[in-house]
Amino acid sequence: MNTLASTPTDTLAIERAATEKLRRCGINVTRQRVCIMQYLMTHHVHPNADDIYSALAPQHPSLSRTTVYNTVRMLAAHGAVTLLSIDDHNINIDENTLPHAHLHCTRCGHIVDIPLQGISTLQASHAFTIGKHLVQEVHQYYKGVCQQCLEEMQDAQTLQ
Ligand SMILES: [Zn+2]
Ligand SMILES: [Zn+2]
Repeated sequence: MNTLASTPTDTLAIERAATEKLRRCGINVTRQRVCIMQYLMTHHVHPNADDIYSALAPQHPSLSRTTVYNTVRMLAAHGAVTLLSIDDHNINIDENTLPHAHLHCTRCGHIVDIPLQGISTLQASHAFTIGKHLVQEVHQYYKGVCQQCLEEMQDAQTLQ
């Protein structure tokens, strides 16, 4: 655990960054929105709306599941977050809106960030054409085994 992350100054800095991001995306700032954005900015694990609700509900009794769902949709509509449909059962939320690829680990279920393949981040940040079609967003989804799982599997093998 990083103890520095829980110091009051850091919490304030993150709160300020979350507020600024909402403003920059043209979103009216409310306490609940800042709170959700703050959670996303400090949990880079592509959580789904249920994860966010479960994490925040104990400290925010007035927060409802519906509010979290609606807020997430609204944040995505304003480009503050990206919604991933890599997992068949969930919509996962990504606070990092710079184009990047994702690997869904079939062993642990985590969604890991990986660099885009075959296209630069810069090119993927703008609309471009393929043939006579206009591409506006690039989503690259990969399925496989993440680095951590591979290492665990290798360790298990060497122990045998
Ligand atoms: Zn894994
Ligand atoms: Zn990501």
